[in-house]
Amino acid sequence: MVKYEKLLADRAELFRASEVRELLKLTEGKKIISLAGGLPDPRVFPKEELAEIARDVILNAGDKALQYSPTAGVTEFRKTLIEFMRSKGVKVNDDDSILVTSGSQQALDLLSRTFIQKDDEIIVELPTYLAALNAFRLSKPGITGIPIDEYGMKTDILEEEIKRLIWLGRKIKFIYTIPVAHNPAGVTMSLERKKHLLEIASKYDLVIIEDDPYSFFVYDENVDVTPLKTLDKEGRVIYMSTFSKILAPGLRIGWIIGNKYVIDVIERAKQTADLHTATLTQFIAMEAIRKGVVNKTIEKAKKLYKVKRDAMLEALDEYMVEGAWWPKPVGGLFVMVFLPSYDIDTKKLLPEALEAGVAYVPGSSFFANGAGWNTMRLNFSFPKPEEIREGIRILSEIIKKHIPKEKKRIMPEHMFYS
Ligand SMILES: *Cc1c(COP(=O)(O)O)cnc(C)c1O
Repeated sequence: MVKYEKLLADRAELFRASEVRELLKLTEGKKIISLAGGLPDPRVFPKEELAEIARDVILNAGDKALQYSPTAGVTEFRKTLIEFMRSKGVKVNDDDSILVTSGSQQALDLLSRTFIQKDDEIIVELPTYLAALNAFRLSKPGITGIPIDEYGMKTDILEEEIKRLIWLGRKIKFIYTIPVAHNPAGVTMSLERKKHLLEIASKYDLVIIEDDPYSFFVYDENVDVTPLKTLDKEGRVIYMSTFSKILAPGLRIGWIIGNKYVIDVIERAKQTADLHTATLTQFIAMEAIRKGVVNKTIEKAKKLYKVKRDAMLEALDEYMVEGAWWPKPVGGLFVMVFLPSYDIDTKKLLPEALEAGVAYVPGSSFFANGAGWNTMRLNFSFPKPEEIREGIRILSEIIKKHIPKEKKRIMPEHMFYS
């Protein structure tokens, strides 16, 4: 047998699968209510429409749609995407450029490879999107986490941390944020905080990466979803989004918009990764925008997910232990629950929950500083409302059993964030 371990590059060490994912894999095929995933509800996928578009594209535009295409993306599709973005309130400047990526995940990987080298510093939210953390970690940066509250990143703490990092001589490469319907925390950044964040970025001359899969389909009225990109006057926001939540994740279509200079560099990084994103799915997505299928899907997703989100919030209100706290998500796919005691480790609770028939993701993996062991991420987009209700009921029972009798380590609410 070949000893492959000895042949692998050092960085292969960083490709390790998480324990939690391994644990959840064991539940596949079993009768378990899963609040663990992050899958859209397949009932949202516009199957008929996409089948028709796909047939049409292959038969009538197949010479192009089945051919190699530019690394930056199919030219007409990029134009259509820019119009689509503008229709959603995302400002695209004349000196901006757009790059189509194989899902947002590739954008995260390319940003990691383009910006970060060992011992650089990046700033993320506490908690943050796990797949982003993993992509960034491959480039071995120092990672500074900024706590959040229900209004998003705590920008006063951000400034303190930036000062500290500068004092330490650290080179800060970017601030990564998910302003609307945060994954995993479910919070949305207030307009005031967004302005403060941009002010700070300007003061210390820093770049912001805005990850925005969710702002096009928030469930509540009167929520400010103005993108940082739109508020930015200095070309320091690199904006990224995806069709994964508003059309179908299987198409693997995402995009980055930013200053032309940096997008050109990222484009060259993409060329070595995969030459270009699948031409066929770009053509299909383009027609889906043009024929109004994307906007129709957005409306459908909004309705369906609002019902499910409300089912989860109601069940939490009814069953969850006293003192637990969960920000109400205005959109997205998740609710994060902060349990009232630091004596409860949600990772240790998971096997018991699985045994009882419900899965969730322990929150600590989302915290760059390893904190958050008293948190759990719950998905509401995939399970049925009845399953959500039952899942929360079971979960609450288990948590209740583990709440320590002596209440001395119960934390005041403001401590949840730090
Ligand atoms: C779901 C999600 C994405 C989507 O990733 P894809 O690779 O485009 O499927 C990106 N960022 C966040 C924060 C998400 O929650």
